[in-house]
Amino acid sequence: MLKQLIFLATVLIALGVFAYSVRNILLNISFLKKAYPLNRWGERFARLLKVGFGQTKILRFPLIGFLHALVFWGFLAILFGSFEMLIDGLFGLEKFLKILGPLHHFFMISGDIFAAIILILIIVFLFRRIALNIKRFSGIEMTHKAHTDANFALTLILLLMVSLLGMNMGYSALNPSEAHLYPVSKVLSYLIVNQNESFLHIFEQINWWAHILLIFFFANYLPYSKHFHVFMSLPNVFLSKLEPLTQMSNMERVTQEVKLMLDPSAPIPEESNDLIERFGMKDIEDGTWKHYTDSLTCTQCGRCTSVCPANLTGKLLSPRKMMIDFRRRMNEKSPHLRKNKQYDDQKSLLDDYITREELWACTTCNACAQECPVNIDHPSMILEMRRYLFMEESAAPSALNTMSTNIENNGAPWQYPPSDRLKWADNLYINE
Ligand code: SF4
Ligand code: SF4
Repeated sequence: MLKQLIFLATVLIALGVFAYSVRNILLNISFLKKAYPLNRWGERFARLLKVGFGQTKILRFPLIGFLHALVFWGFLAILFGSFEMLIDGLFGLEKFLKILGPLHHFFMISGDIFAAIILILIIVFLFRRIALNIKRFSGIEMTHKAHTDANFALTLILLLMVSLLGMNMGYSALNPSEAHLYPVSKVLSYLIVNQNESFLHIFEQINWWAHILLIFFFANYLPYSKHFHVFMSLPNVFLSKLEPLTQMSNMERVTQEVKLMLDPSAPIPEESNDLIERFGMKDIEDGTWKHYTDSLTCTQCGRCTSVCPANLTGKLLSPRKMMIDFRRRMNEKSPHLRKNKQYDDQKSLLDDYITREELWACTTCNACAQECPVNIDHPSMILEMRRYLFMEESAAPSALNTMSTNIENNGAPWQYPPSDRLKWADNLYINE
């Protein structure tokens, strides 16, 4: 009973802290703009199955992609056992989900095997990060803090797997008739099987508690880590843009005015009291919820930056930095915005985090968004910030400013109106 009470208190604390983090994220979303309508549910589920669960994008890198996918699939298998531990802990039971029979056996066997696989892979990933100088993991946005966060989260996962295997070892040694459900731990349990029963019991309990406490700690650390993609990647893939990547979002009011300008007989739109407070994005509150969820989902893997032609040719632009900067700025400003929507610290995402040079270096090729394994749409953020520069500050490169002036004055991007199009042929003799 005492164990149950302590466990209940631990669960309540863990849930309370997690709920506080989720509440802050939802409040942040509440002051952001709408992105696009959430419809076409069938297509969204298909994409979730293919890109989310099937990990198709990450598998484009056959070896390392497959290893990462194994970790993801392994987590899904292990999740079943974690859920069972929660029930067992709350109600003082042991392996409650055994009532599911073969399904329980399947998850116990696969969870145990995956725990060993993940343990080995995490050691490989840590070695790659720490000892190998992999270009994809470097860049101006990859600060010491970012590297420490990545290594810390990987170490937590490693400890999670060690404690899970330890728990299974203890259980296998105590219950030889069920040891076949833990094939890896059964072999490892030969190390302790000759110990007396009370040692085995304490061994199993220590690992049980270590594992569940690590789960609670990990879950509450994630919202402040790049590893938040553990929670966010599936929802972000589900919510991703279904239109072609190259399709820009139009501002409805501006579109109507342009239509009227081109064709005065076009129907005049109904008067709307919606004032456009800002064209494009200068700071986080001008962004959409999708920009925010993208920034929360970014794993900082660097696949986007590694294919960016601007970055590859030595320009300042790094699409990964866009996501990191948005999240950093959100962390800096959102606690104040939650209290006062008019809060202004005389700083902004544009210029204080992301420079104009970075923005204009983008070719809008969409390679970054195409490559991102969690369907992040970097160009939409870049285009919104350019929209602000263009429409509010007229601060585009001079060639673009000239082009827009020409369109406005002449209805064509050149210095001449369409009516002058054939003037070059005026003095030529043309047979009619
Ligand atoms: S935006 Fe996507 S591809 Fe780029 S670092 Fe983040 S997760 Fe990786
Ligand atoms: S769309 Fe822009 S940021 Fe993305 S890869 Fe192309 S140039 Fe780089």
